[in-house]
Amino acid sequence: MKSVPLEDISEELAGLKAQNLLRSLKIVDGPQESHISLGGRRLVNLSSNNYLGLSNDKRLKNAAISAIKKYGLGAGASRLICGNMLLHKKLEDRIAAFKKTEAALLFNSGYCANLAVLSSLCGRDDVVFSDKLNHASIIDAIILSRAEFRRYPHKDIKNLESLLKNSNGFRRRLIVTDSVFSMDGDLAPLPELTYLAKKYNCLLYIDEAHATGILGKTGKGALEYFGIEDEAIIQMGTLSKAVGAFGAYVCGAKILIDYLINKARPFIYTTALPVSVCAGAIAALDIIESDGLLRSGLSENIKFFRQALRSLGFKNSLDPTPVIPLLIGDAVKTMEFSRRLFSKGVFVQGIRPPTVPAGTSRLRITLMATHKKKDLEFALDKIAEIGRQLGII
Ligand SMILES: *Cc1c(COP(=O)(O)O)cnc(C)c1O
Repeated sequence: MKSVPLEDISEELAGLKAQNLLRSLKIVDGPQESHISLGGRRLVNLSSNNYLGLSNDKRLKNAAISAIKKYGLGAGASRLICGNMLLHKKLEDRIAAFKKTEAALLFNSGYCANLAVLSSLCGRDDVVFSDKLNHASIIDAIILSRAEFRRYPHKDIKNLESLLKNSNGFRRRLIVTDSVFSMDGDLAPLPELTYLAKKYNCLLYIDEAHATGILGKTGKGALEYFGIEDEAIIQMGTLSKAVGAFGAYVCGAKILIDYLINKARPFIYTTALPVSVCAGAIAALDIIESDGLLRSGLSENIKFFRQALRSLGFKNSLDPTPVIPLLIGDAVKTMEFSRRLFSKGVFVQGIRPPTVPAGTSRLRITLMATHKKKDLEFALDKIAEIGRQLGII
């Protein structure tokens, strides 16, 4: 018998290729640093989320190695069976202290944390209001929850308020937003969202994946940046980006954490994180809290690079975040830009649909604290050269 399902798949892949949307994996041979080894070449790395350069930091690596020596590699069981080790508890306490919340809970990734929170807090009788540019994991989580899914245009507070006004009759209402948008690098209007959540008696849930360790005086994230203190806000963040480790957290009221431990399937039905990762994350939080120079170095790189791009004629914003989209629009042109940069020694991944809306393909540049000024100048030089060749500036 003919294998029809797989034939479908191959047609679909051919279709993606024809639209220049086919993706494939590249192999990185070396640590995630300001330079990256790709295909036997060493390139300036403008695509890593390792914003503070911590993933290859000796202090994190030594902490992880010590934990492996003492506890082994795998946790061996889920948290609720017998995989809940002392280091899980220590990291959760450390996160709660860092974020100044009552409690925190670990998840195996940011993706899982979003699935966990939204699918356990929201169900058929509830409604979720979601910014149109929220991360894919939030969208998947809302669909999984079976709650009514209402999107509002990007950062459009007026539109959100009109949706809120027309949402009586639901059991629970929840607003969810990236605090720093992952593909756009701009900030959610958190003061206004906090106000609306109060006014309409909604929960507010924020995804701090690109804010944790970066924004605010001590790197606590977007709430610190905006000076918002509101214990009702539910926060999640990943430990895999600026923190340089892996896994994710949710933090907030103790009662919320107790609820998630009992109800969140992506927490219950999975093996606990390896404790080496927890030990590394604890070391990272110590560094993030005490080493202001690391963050100010990143901040200087961000200011310098964003301003320099503007001087070259790009229309990027001057947002205080390390995620800088260079909007190209067309997917073919975007990938050609990326390819030419690669050939000149600069790695920037092109981002195409469905990760971003059709017609908004872009180079997503990310900066690190460990980029040297000469690395950034080198990259800017190549970006300018190719930007002119392709008629973008
Ligand atoms: C990366 C990211 C996630 C997923 O986090 P992982 O720990 O990598 O699974 C969730 N939300 C946003 C906004 C992200 O950028």
